[in-house]
Amino acid sequence: MQELIRKLLAELDEDPNREGLLDTPKRVEKALKFLTSGYRADIDSVLNNALFTVDYSEMVIVKDIDFYSLCEHHLLPFFGKCHIAYIPTTKVIGLSKIPRLVDVFSRRLQVQERLTNEIADTISEKIAPLGVAVVIEATHLCMSMRGVEKQNSFAVTSAMLGAFRNNARTRMEFLELIKLRGAVPGPRDWAMATEACVEQD
Ligand SMILES: [Zn+2]
Repeated sequence: MQELIRKLLAELDEDPNREGLLDTPKRVEKALKFLTSGYRADIDSVLNNALFTVDYSEMVIVKDIDFYSLCEHHLLPFFGKCHIAYIPTTKVIGLSKIPRLVDVFSRRLQVQERLTNEIADTISEKIAPLGVAVVIEATHLCMSMRGVEKQNSFAVTSAMLGAFRNNARTRMEFLELIKLRGAVPGPRDWAMATEACVEQD
């Protein structure tokens, strides 16, 4: 990878042998490996020993989880907050593991819509809850830094499964708790997230 980064620097009309850039290939490789470490993470070991059987059927909410990801169209960062809720049937996930789950999927090349769905689907698959809701609010540097439609550099996406999809009151309770009621598309649009990053650009 380091040789590729040296070539990239030269293609950008830089001098890879300039003092300040000498160690850059090594640093970029290390940074990129960390930022894509989600490909090499195993969900089951992340959740290892953290699925608990409980007699609890109220909504579990973890909000304001910070995440950083890379848009797969431009390899530029998009980042923001992820809010997750679910209603357990027999199992819950240890609370500290939920941000780790977000890391596994955000540390990959992503689009915001898929990131949102992958988190929801994984929770659904692992603990079979009555419902799962995931809302992600993010700023896309590929839009804002390049000056493309600045007003769209912020996007909100959501995935609503089970009770959160079928029951408007449950969904509203969640959106009320994360204070996003007005910013999220209406019930019929749950599947169609905002176009976050326009791949044609
Ligand atoms: Zn992009």
